[in-house]
Amino acid sequence: MSDGARAIERAAPSEAELRSSLRAHFGHEAFRGRQEEAIRAVLGGGDVLVLWPTGEGKSLCYQLPALHLEGLSLVVSPLIALMKDQVDALVARGIPATFINSSLSREEREQRLLRVLAGEMKLLYVTPERLRQEAFRSALQGIAIARFVVDEAHCVSQWGHDFRPDYADLGRRRRELGSPPLVALTATATPEVRADLLRVLEAESAEVFATSIARAGHFLAVSELEGFEAKKERLLALLESWTPPGIVYCALIQELLRLEDELARIGIRCLVYHGDLSAEERRAMQERFLASRDLLVLATNAFGMGIDKPDIRFVVHWQLPGTLEAYVQETGRAGRDGHGAWCELFFDPEDLAIQQGFIAWANPTRELAELLGHVLEREADHLHELSEEDVREEVLKKSRGDGRVATILKLFEVQGILSGPLGQAGTTLLRPFDARELPADWNDAKKRSSLQKLLSLVQYARDEECRQVHLRSYFGEEDCAPCQACDRCVDPAVWRAQHLVEARPLAAATSLSRFPARGEWVSIDGRWVGRVLRVHGKGKQTRYEIELSPSLELRTYDVRRHHVRHLRDEEPSS
Ligand code: ADP
Ligand code: ZN
Repeated sequence: MSDGARAIERAAPSEAELRSSLRAHFGHEAFRGRQEEAIRAVLGGGDVLVLWPTGEGKSLCYQLPALHLEGLSLVVSPLIALMKDQVDALVARGIPATFINSSLSREEREQRLLRVLAGEMKLLYVTPERLRQEAFRSALQGIAIARFVVDEAHCVSQWGHDFRPDYADLGRRRRELGSPPLVALTATATPEVRADLLRVLEAESAEVFATSIARAGHFLAVSELEGFEAKKERLLALLESWTPPGIVYCALIQELLRLEDELARIGIRCLVYHGDLSAEERRAMQERFLASRDLLVLATNAFGMGIDKPDIRFVVHWQLPGTLEAYVQETGRAGRDGHGAWCELFFDPEDLAIQQGFIAWANPTRELAELLGHVLEREADHLHELSEEDVREEVLKKSRGDGRVATILKLFEVQGILSGPLGQAGTTLLRPFDARELPADWNDAKKRSSLQKLLSLVQYARDEECRQVHLRSYFGEEDCAPCQACDRCVDPAVWRAQHLVEARPLAAATSLSRFPARGEWVSIDGRWVGRVLRVHGKGKQTRYEIELSPSLELRTYDVRRHHVRHLRDEEPSS
């Protein structure tokens, strides 16, 4: 690249200019956290690594500077699907941004490239695989690249992600484009990944913007519990003091549905969110949860991206997540309003097997990839009629509950072997798969690293030290003092008494605050369900004679000692 094409820096924008740009282009009133500082660093032309949890507003750190810099900000992003959303959002705000990827026709790609080369665009999103293409790279050499942005930068590290060899070449690619300053962004922050990605991107001296993972107001607890009943009992006990909104995370959909069932039986209605729901159902659930003031949601890890709800009072992990990274991310959704929030991990050693299964699925062998490659070549003319189940049936001799084939198919798409998902009109085999493309030790290291991460959850659960100190050291924070807000540091009951925002009993979450009447269905202590047969006394003196369900047992409950509430038949409007 010639010096003439090098980006010319404009004078740094003033504070007022940045703010007005924030308002005009992004519709935000103020910068969040250290956004402004990071933006200054990016504008200053040094290499920058932004390490914040998802949802904290990392994108602004390169999107806003892009508007104030001469030339194009080239954004390397791993997912084609994500790219379109991001660009749509930018275009809707009037920001000249576009993407070039394999979802577009050749003509469309060429047209877009011409507009980029004509200097009409401030942001261009591409995959690392696109940068492998010589023609594409040499086209870009004619223009000024203001910043080289790597989103989801943990993919660069060999410990970070699924097999994407082109990520490992990004350091070289940046050099070939004249070494524009780097902006790398990721939510994953272990010191190992951080060091590795900066090495690969040849930016060891990057300025790092990281936030502590410690959250004020969070209480961290672990309960070692075996089996469904023990967990249920513990959850109900928690619900006595911590009222929704709250999230209970399960690893398996099947388990989640069982829990939903059991809770419904005792009068606790929940929202559910998992991958077997349609996109529409998921959106509806998410919206109801966001709008609610008193709903419990049972969710798999599919739930959470974009959950920015301030008043989530607890996050319970009914089953182990796969990594401490995921655990911190998921608990990070609680208590954003700064009030007390309870984060409890149910640790059942049996649940380790579930995550081990997931790890096996995510790391299929070379042999399986090769076999699948042959099947696809043989069926090349029928890929649009072939389903994932058909293929799974053939190569694994079983059809359900094994994700390995899905993993390999995704890899084939990413690698430009398959043009799209199986069974979809227009899906073709772009080129045959050659197993020699995969490194000899394909997946070995990744599998080991995933198992190691799972082990780190066990270490977290069993560690006698402060939970927060444990987590913070895991993420490379140094000199952490004990938090005084975990079950290793203090007596949970004492902390709870000091931090509980509002000790409403669970059933009071209904908007029906009048006393139940004869014939109505009620829950007792958020635990039992029954029908009111007789009411004695009034107000605080009320006693109910209740026929319990399903036992039909007759019991009397005094409201001074029990919470007798209407069963929610619909979500209250709150
Ligand atoms: P990340 O990349 O860190 O996951 P995003 O950049 O996608 O996060 O931002 C998450 C959400 O926060 C987006 O909806 C974004 O519009 C919003 N956001 C970012 N910065 C601000 C800000 N300064 N004020 C208000 N909202 C913001
Ligand atoms: Zn502690």
